[in-house]
Amino acid sequence: MKNEHHYQRQQKGIISIDEGLAIISENIPVCRRMECSLEEGIGRYLATDIVAPEPSPRYTNSAMDGFAVRWQDVLHASAENPVELRIVGESQAGTSFSNSVGSGEAIRISTGAVVPNDCDTVIRVEDTEEQNGSVIVHAVRSAGQDVRYMGEEFTAGELLLQKGIRITAARVALLASVGIARVTVFRPCEVAVLVTGSELVSVGENIADDQIRDSNMIMLVAAIEEAGGKVVQTLRVADEVEATRQAIAQTEADLVICSGGISVGRHDHVKKAADTCGFVPLFWRILQKPGKPLYFARQGEQMLFGLPGNPVSAFMCFTHYVRPFITAMNGVSFGWPMVSAEAVHDIENRGKRPNMIRVQLSWRHHNGHCISYSAKQGSHMLTSLAHADGYIILEPGQKLCAGERIDVYRYDFSREPV
Ligand code: AMP
Ligand code: MG
Repeated sequence: MKNEHHYQRQQKGIISIDEGLAIISENIPVCRRMECSLEEGIGRYLATDIVAPEPSPRYTNSAMDGFAVRWQDVLHASAENPVELRIVGESQAGTSFSNSVGSGEAIRISTGAVVPNDCDTVIRVEDTEEQNGSVIVHAVRSAGQDVRYMGEEFTAGELLLQKGIRITAARVALLASVGIARVTVFRPCEVAVLVTGSELVSVGENIADDQIRDSNMIMLVAAIEEAGGKVVQTLRVADEVEATRQAIAQTEADLVICSGGISVGRHDHVKKAADTCGFVPLFWRILQKPGKPLYFARQGEQMLFGLPGNPVSAFMCFTHYVRPFITAMNGVSFGWPMVSAEAVHDIENRGKRPNMIRVQLSWRHHNGHCISYSAKQGSHMLTSLAHADGYIILEPGQKLCAGERIDVYRYDFSREPV
């Protein structure tokens, strides 16, 4: 650790990863709620418990296409001893049968259609044969077969979804199925993305030899949405202080995320521009690799992150610092989805800064996850991200030996961290 202290003295103002996280967590706005339609609620987080307003199934219905019958009539039916019943009508999904079904009678029924009160059993089509307006039953299993009972899945008043859970495709279907058309969710963090760089061209545009494709914009937009934030503005400016100032000044979002222009180069203007707009710096530079020049500032209720332009640095800073900020506004605790894994081979940090090393996760039979990593970890190398499942943080001089376990920060955010 001697190295680290020496380094810190040299780099005045630089803070540690934990100090940076502490400052961010102290500056998270309070969670707000909003009521919205189911469509708008997709991907958002429930701000209330959801209780079933009605039972499921709502009415007793058939699990099969076939015939609704009275068990007493068919209980002895078999291939050798088939039972014949007179067909007196039909219950279709959407058009139920309104007359009564007597002894020796049956009605046609389709999947999901109401089973009349007189009937208690369904015979699937495959176990029957039709003859002159009658149905011949060849096989039965048990009373009540192929009937779905009202309330057998849940009754009215039962807890369906817990507060804090994300509304996924399956969950939105459950809500729709019981007639819930509006939900109260946490209001997502609204984000403006500002990409800086005179060398940048949009994907698909003609590119000169000395230009760079802007991959950060689309990466950040995707990452913000994945994290449960909402992109409300996207802007791109050249490396000019006045253009950058104007862009920052026109943002109307809880959070402004800038890409590039945050380092010590002659063409890095984000800090100056934010300063002119009235942002107060909370920190600049974290002792880490990649992503050292991370910048965080505040103006009233609006927060601003300045991410380094290198795509890997930008992504790592987003994942470790900005994502927990965005998820916290959704009522999720400030943190990361993590998993413990065993190193497949030695991994060492020979550098002077804590290193966020991108790793691949795989399964091993007895001890769960294990990790390996690729040697190509440069902060300009997007393959180190695209083929990784997460990252580990090693202190300067720290060596993780093959077989040792370590906590892995996962990229995958499809499941809520617990
Ligand atoms: P900067 O932090 O602005 O000095 O940028 C550092 C490096 O990242 C430079 O090589 C830039 O060309 C590259 N870079 C900056 N912004 C982007 C972006 N939006 N997409 C891809 N690369 C970028
Ligand atoms: Mg730049």
